[in-house]
Amino acid sequence: MNAKTKSKLKSIRFKLFAYFCLFSMLILLLVYGLQALFLNYYFAQMKVSETTKIAQQIVKTFERDHQDLTRLAKTMDVLATTNDDIYMRVETLAGKTVIAPYGDSFFVPKYSIDISKVRDMLSSGTNKYVSTVSTSLDKASDDDKILVYACFLEDDLVSPEVADAFGASNLECWNSSSYVLYILTPLHLAKTTTSILSDQFIYASVIALILSSVIAIYFSRRISKPLKSITRSAAEMGKGNYGVQFPRSDYTEINELADTLTHASRELEKTEMYQKDLIANVSHDLRTPLTMIKSYAEMIRDLSGDIPEKRDAHLAVIIDETDRLNTLVNDLLNLRHMQNKTITIEKNYFDIKAAAESILASYDIRCQKEGYNLIFNCRDSITVYGDESKIKQVIANLVGNAFKFCGEDKTVIVNIKRVGKKMRCEVRDNGAGIAPDEIDHIWERYYKSSSNLVRPVEGSGLGLSIVKEILILHKAQYGVTSKVGKGTTFWFEMDAIKSKNALMTRS
Ligand code: ADP
Repeated sequence: MNAKTKSKLKSIRFKLFAYFCLFSMLILLLVYGLQALFLNYYFAQMKVSETTKIAQQIVKTFERDHQDLTRLAKTMDVLATTNDDIYMRVETLAGKTVIAPYGDSFFVPKYSIDISKVRDMLSSGTNKYVSTVSTSLDKASDDDKILVYACFLEDDLVSPEVADAFGASNLECWNSSSYVLYILTPLHLAKTTTSILSDQFIYASVIALILSSVIAIYFSRRISKPLKSITRSAAEMGKGNYGVQFPRSDYTEINELADTLTHASRELEKTEMYQKDLIANVSHDLRTPLTMIKSYAEMIRDLSGDIPEKRDAHLAVIIDETDRLNTLVNDLLNLRHMQNKTITIEKNYFDIKAAAESILASYDIRCQKEGYNLIFNCRDSITVYGDESKIKQVIANLVGNAFKFCGEDKTVIVNIKRVGKKMRCEVRDNGAGIAPDEIDHIWERYYKSSSNLVRPVEGSGLGLSIVKEILILHKAQYGVTSKVGKGTTFWFEMDAIKSKNALMTRS
């Protein structure tokens, strides 16, 4: 079997078709089994209960009007014609026919043995007014079974005249139990009926198979069609056409698949866009310091090499630019490690106030030189449990951003406080703020808001993704609130540890 045939056999279309056919075959087999095994049994049961009912009706009619047997004869005529395959006769106990309605010809000698058998059973029984049921014939095959039923018709009230009129001259007979009602009925379906049923069964099987095939083909097409168009769209995406819309259909599960894929495709499109931006940004970020380093190095070589003050100033620029390059490369590496989960955090108890102070101290010179105003509010030391260097990096990134985006206001406020059992750290600026439609994206890799793309402000678009990854690793809560034109507040919260506990655990 080649691969193509194999995959065809595994297709939804083929499987659905096969299952449908299997299902209809099973149903047909079940119907056939029921017919073969139980039909005759049900039929026999039905006949027995029908016979009992008819017998009761005849007994009642006889009891109601025992003087007038013509009435009984009429009732029996009606019953014989309205009930198929039920044959009845009233005889004296001695075997003389009293009433023989239409269809009596069934009482052929063939059954006389059975009739005398039930008669004997009846007369030897203690309760003569209770009907006796016998499924004679002996040794009969299932197809020949006849129900031979006999019961007494009450005799006490039958006058000798009446009995005589109907030929019951034997006194002994009518003095005890004069009349016996016999009912004969075959307990098997007529051969023609069974052959009609089996013919119908064959037709029904063929029709059911054709119908189930048609339905299976129809449904398998309906189900596989949307899947095929999803596969086509996925192939498009595979070719690099991110952002393709996966078609929805009438099925919830397929819709969920289509929506998930559409979402994935949009995410890929975004990532691709951010990556392109990153390449543009990073190459710009790399080129600027590299150009600076090159030109200042040339200046030192050609001009300021012998003039110590100028040379030192130029060397300071080179060192600054190298630091910037270093930070950029570190950011990229850090993020890659964090996203690959190859980075581990080393948790310890540390004082967040002291950690923040050490970061903020590095901004002192910038504040003095460039007129920035950095306000730090923190009343008491607060112990937290985490990776100190990583949390410092979070604060540094947030403060760095606040410096970048605080605009003309040049004020950055850092608040660290205890809120219930938590330590809350806020970094606020009164800059341009973030547009509501961009605020959800700023945590994404490589994202730089559109207003900052034309870059008076430098950055890789990685700072906040690093912040997010670190805070997730610490299971800390974090967020941002911002109003356009008013400013932005970034915050994060960690468990504040009671100092006593921290000391005990440390010792
Ligand atoms: P970048 O290196 O560009 O600063 P970040 O991931 O740190 O990258 O920030 C992503 C984007 O979020 C920034 O480009 C900027 O648009 C926005 N952003 C971050 N901090 C602030 C802030 N304090 N005020 C306004 N916008 C901000």
